Amino acid sequence: MGKLDGRVVLVTGAARGQGEQEARLFVAEGARVVLTDVLDDQGGALAKELGDDNALYRRLDVRREDDWTAAVAAAKERFGKIDGLVNNAGILRFNELTATPLEEFQLITQINQVGAFLGIRTVAPEIEAAGGGTIVNTASYTAVTGMAYVGAYAASKHAVLGLTRVAAVELASKGIRVNALCPGAIDTPMTNPAALDPDADPRAGREAMAGLYRKLIPLGRAGEPEEVARLALFLSCADSSYITGQPFVIDGGWLAGVNLS
Ligand code: NAD
Repeated sequence: MGKLDGRVVLVTGAARGQGEQEARLFVAEGARVVLTDVLDDQGGALAKELGDDNALYRRLDVRREDDWTAAVAAAKERFGKIDGLVNNAGILRFNELTATPLEEFQLITQINQVGAFLGIRTVAPEIEAAGGGTIVNTASYTAVTGMAYVGAYAASKHAVLGLTRVAAVELASKGIRVNALCPGAIDTPMTNPAALDPDADPRAGREAMAGLYRKLIPLGRAGEPEEVARLALFLSCADSSYITGQPFVIDGGWLAGVNLS
């Protein structure tokens, strides 16, 4: 028996990285998954690999209300209901706060914060209609502490935590639990863009960061997207039945403190 047997979960940003691993694990645990992204080729290929019975790909730019409405309609047409959402899509840009262009701040806010809001607003009534379920929002280590050069991103992820808490309180009576993932450094194209460059060696990007991670992170390494997917699974299944409104830090101990030795 899978931990998500009978469930239908929509995952945003599911074409690669953490969203991809969440989609793979959720299908392995019995869910039918609606994979959404703006990377249509990758998302479509992944859905095909997972099989028509288990997976559906739909283009969904999380900033667009009409995309949300269409994705939910397509999901219900194929699978009959939606009772889970993983708000995973997000972008990161590095810039000193005082040098951040307004357009960049607004773009990050639109995707990371407004996208999560639209997801909750569109999908929560469907989850309620299905008899209850779960929402997992992807915040960040930078939702619970500061970090230089990621001001717009950290602001958007702090907002995702605020949304998580309010949604948990408002939606509890409708049978919907809402929690947040707060990953530290995870080895995905977001932190290792070289992984996307066909001319670059992805190991070079990893090795460049490895020394820094050894110093900063007690467990001495970046996390794997599969490790984040396992936390998303926990928060989406009955194992977390008495948990709602909480941030879950998954960071190899980074937030715990510094080691001066
Ligand atoms: P990633 O860049 O591999 O994946 C992000 C996905 O979001 C991509 O598939 C991308 O196409 C999609 N996306 C971007 N803009 C979109 C839009 N407008 N509409 C729909 N989809 C869009 O990175 P990842 O590490 O897998 O990131 C997943 C989530 O985890 C993000 O919310 C990110 O902020 C968060 N996060 C990542 C890390 C990390 O170290 N990698 C740490 C903390 C939090």
